[in-house]
Amino acid sequence: MILDEIVSNILSDKGCANLAAGATQLVMGDGNLDADIVFIGEAPGKKEDEQGLPFVGAAGKFLDEMLIEAGMKRNDVYITNVVKYRPPNNRDPLPEEKAAFLPYLLRQLEVISPKAIITLGRHSMEYFLPEAKISQIHGHAIRKKVVYHDKTEHEWLVIPLYHPAAALYNGGMRQVLIDDFIGAARLIRSL
Ligand code: URA
Repeated sequence: MILDEIVSNILSDKGCANLAAGATQLVMGDGNLDADIVFIGEAPGKKEDEQGLPFVGAAGKFLDEMLIEAGMKRNDVYITNVVKYRPPNNRDPLPEEKAAFLPYLLRQLEVISPKAIITLGRHSMEYFLPEAKISQIHGHAIRKKVVYHDKTEHEWLVIPLYHPAAALYNGGMRQVLIDDFIGAARLIRSL
């Protein structure tokens, strides 16, 4: 299976090795490989590193709640991160770390080929929309042309949302995220 190939490529990639050395395991992703929606976060945290699954800590609980509010379950979607090893002490991933994982993320998206990509926070948004300001475009759907590794052209629908962890520190953000989430789910269902 192609996803296994991506995993073994990451495991043998020297560019990813620094983070790998400090992490318990690779956190590749979770959910349905036929999903219409892929969520992309930043990087695994402590709980994710322990369990080998993305978004299983406090931010993940809120993500699960929002999925339910929007009429979905975890297994209806696919969830992953830009960086697939936990950075030490949960620090922000460095630009070179994000760059090392980019080809794998893009390949993973090719395999799943979702109707829409929902970025969670700025680290994943900046891959797709490098000029964008999250405060201005959160919840908006943006079409993005991409060329797959076999040179075929495709279009992805990218919907940037705030990171669910933002709602844990800022209560006002909670409703913004829920509203954006429900709006995104409605839009994707209508496609
Ligand atoms: N935050 C993220 O960005 N990803 C996770 O998997 C968990 C917390």
